[in-house]
Amino acid sequence: MDLKINLFVDGEEVPPSSGKYLERRDPGDESNVIGLVADGFEDVGGAVDAARRAFDRDAGGWVSDYRLRTRVLLKAAELLRQNLDSLARMESLFVGKTIRTSRMSDIPRAAELLEYYAGLADKVLGTSQILRTGDLVSIVKQPVGVVAAIVPWNFPLVILCRQVAPALAAGCTVVAKPSSLTPATALELAKILDKAGAPKGVFNVVTGGGETVGDKLLKNEKVDLVNFTGSTSVGKNIMQKASSHLKRVVLELGGKNPNIVFDDADLERAANAVVYGAYANNGESCAAGSRLLVHSKVRKQFVEMVVERVKRIRVGYQLDERSDMGPLVSRGQLETVLEYVGAAASEGLKILCGGERLAEGFYSRGNYMKPTVIDDTPPESRLFQEEIFGPVLTVTEFRDEDEAVELANATIYGLAAGVWSSDPGRAYRVASRVKAGAVWINTYYTLPVEMPWGGFKQSGIGRNNTVLAIEHYLESKGVYVDTQQGSMRPYYRLVLGE
Ligand code: NAD
Repeated sequence: MDLKINLFVDGEEVPPSSGKYLERRDPGDESNVIGLVADGFEDVGGAVDAARRAFDRDAGGWVSDYRLRTRVLLKAAELLRQNLDSLARMESLFVGKTIRTSRMSDIPRAAELLEYYAGLADKVLGTSQILRTGDLVSIVKQPVGVVAAIVPWNFPLVILCRQVAPALAAGCTVVAKPSSLTPATALELAKILDKAGAPKGVFNVVTGGGETVGDKLLKNEKVDLVNFTGSTSVGKNIMQKASSHLKRVVLELGGKNPNIVFDDADLERAANAVVYGAYANNGESCAAGSRLLVHSKVRKQFVEMVVERVKRIRVGYQLDERSDMGPLVSRGQLETVLEYVGAAASEGLKILCGGERLAEGFYSRGNYMKPTVIDDTPPESRLFQEEIFGPVLTVTEFRDEDEAVELANATIYGLAAGVWSSDPGRAYRVASRVKAGAVWINTYYTLPVEMPWGGFKQSGIGRNNTVLAIEHYLESKGVYVDTQQGSMRPYYRLVLGE
């Protein structure tokens, strides 16, 4: 497969002005080039201008006609569903996530996001108040303007839709910058929105590197808001740069999420969910439940149950229907994860299973790694503190509720947490004390659009999903209507005299 991934600017797919393309190799077989990704550095300004023009001139009625926005988003969702198989294949090929994951989760979730916000486009309501004088004050909600959507590689289409569906529903225009590792479905979304009737300039895509294309987008003063999903370190950098023009920011950043298992939990169910939560999407997920915190009374039994399940995970090529886990997204990512596992060994931590690259036969061609469980990881360990972003689960024991909460909160992150207990009072208490933007009780990693998503602490600012998200893309404007008779007002006299 040799696929040119171009840019999408002002309603058209275009090659990069530089003529340059970056090679993308198959993460499951690095000997294959699967895509040539446009280096859009020279085209950032043009894409932002197109989005700016479309917004300022209300292109095709995009800003003023909310019914148009509803129709376009619904039609785009329908087209995503019609192309489910080819989009799922494309997503898996580039990311390394299994084809079953893309087909069952990523593409349908992307369509759901478009449908959900299509239903909100005509419900952006302001408020009005009649003052005691009879004058009217209204709070009018209006779209913010041009949105830059900078997206990571682990859920390229879902995250892109999570960022842009509420922005488009609100009447904004968008310039999207997908990760250069996984840009293919962003271009497909652009073509789909165009087919669905989005006016020219409403949705643009520029591909290329973060420090080049992403940086240029951030520095463009015609961008009003940046919605960034990615690592905490880049998120801090984005916030600093956005401050130069006081761009609004929404940041969805890293996570180091605890799954807290009490001794009264349904252990069978918890073991299934802990394994799912840690290794879904190859463990390359901000929501990964990568820290297992388990009560001392059930620790031995529970860890055995987990390890037994982890050993059954079939690692294989991402497009193979039998694979439960695919290759990591790049050689660099594989090396990062292996470096953490190496640090575990040098810290004297015990590796209960996995802990190495899969390198025999076909595996040697890709970035395959054995799913790994590391025992007895103390809170001081790097493996407890830092986001590894790969198939690595650490185990830490606690003795009571207070200690569980303390351990859960002992990192800089606060994205998500799972609580497992048959005592509703305990589950609610812990859910309330854990500093995380999302808490799952007796389940893990169920993330429909109805569940708000965003971080406490250094996991982010703002919320994606739900009705909360659309607020980020709206400005509130006050409109005052003076209903009094006559040409003079008492306060005019302060200047005009008695
Ligand atoms: P990353 O931060 O390296 O990159 C994210 C995006 O930002 C990419 O498009 C990249 O090209 C761009 N970028 C990088 N440096 C930039 C710069 N200096 N200026 C402008 N843009 C820049 O993240 P990644 O490796 O693609 O993804 C993994 C990270 O994303 C993890 O930390 C993960 O937790 C986080 N993530 C968070 C969520 C969430 O919902 N909270 C979801 C998915 C991923």
